[in-house]
Amino acid sequence: VLIIEDDLTLAEHYRLALLSGGIDANILHNPHELISQLAAFNPDLVLMDLYMPDLSGPELAGIIRQHERWTSLPVVYLSAETDLDRQIEALRHGADDFITKPIADASLIALVRARIERGRQIDALVTRDSLTGLLRHATIKEAIHAEIKRAVRTRHPVSVAIIDIDHFKQVNDRHGHATGDVVITATANLLRQRLRQSDLIGRYGGEEFVVVLVDCDASDAEKLLEDIRQRFASIRFGRAGSEFNCTLSAGLASLSVCGNNLLPAADAALYHAKNTGRNRVCQATPADLPLAGTTP
Ligand code: GH3
Ligand code: MG
Ligand code: MG
Repeated sequence: VLIIEDDLTLAEHYRLALLSGGIDANILHNPHELISQLAAFNPDLVLMDLYMPDLSGPELAGIIRQHERWTSLPVVYLSAETDLDRQIEALRHGADDFITKPIADASLIALVRARIERGRQIDALVTRDSLTGLLRHATIKEAIHAEIKRAVRTRHPVSVAIIDIDHFKQVNDRHGHATGDVVITATANLLRQRLRQSDLIGRYGGEEFVVVLVDCDASDAEKLLEDIRQRFASIRFGRAGSEFNCTLSAGLASLSVCGNNLLPAADAALYHAKNTGRNRVCQATPADLPLAGTTP
């Protein structure tokens, strides 16, 4: 929880109360550092006073909501304001709830915990794909950019791959949509099994996946994807009597080879893999970059 409260004694009291309930909390001392503090601490909830000398609660809520990354972050006022009209007015600026103080520590803990749990459920629905549980298109895209930036800053390797199931339309046509869904789920599970906890996996489109291999250079990434390709090709799908195998193609781009424009480069390499027979992993080269605009 990030606590924003100008009365520092009270702020410290809330912090300790939440801590006693097993909830980690930080106090924002300078409202002008709001956004950098959010990024650094990444809270599950903001607990905020309504009236503060420098910037008011509604002003701060407005600032939070200007940032797409924080649109679903729960913002709860904790204020002595009991006038309902003023409470509602304050909520109009992007906050979610109003708790009136004074409040017993146990109630504060319970309310905050309930809000956080609800927020996490909603967040999972917004950011995760329902069939596979993987990150959705917009979320993975944002995460890729963040990871590339981080890798550039820390001078660590990073690789991005786009993986697409081969002739997937035929799977649906021959074996039905439900079996197609099984193949998609199996691909997601295989990726989860083979990748590390710190890697990111997203469902980019119907039968297309994106993975971000953190701290992984071109040659390690290629070995890993080659292993995934082989394992996937060996899975038997379908019912007895109508069993079938599936293959996948992957385009791979690494920071050290392609610079930071990894997604278009991986896309170009995937296009290459599809055009040279499928069931293969293709590594992007700097020459692939100008092709990026012409890939499907
Ligand atoms: P290629 O080897 O060139 O990738 O050919 P493809 O048939 O795999 O590619 P194409 O993009 O033509 O077809 C993808 C198909 O995936 C079309 C679409 O109906 C199907 N699809 C997309 N989302 C889902 C899904 O959630 N479940 C199922 N079962 N099928 C899906
Ligand atoms: Mg496909
Ligand atoms: Mg496709």
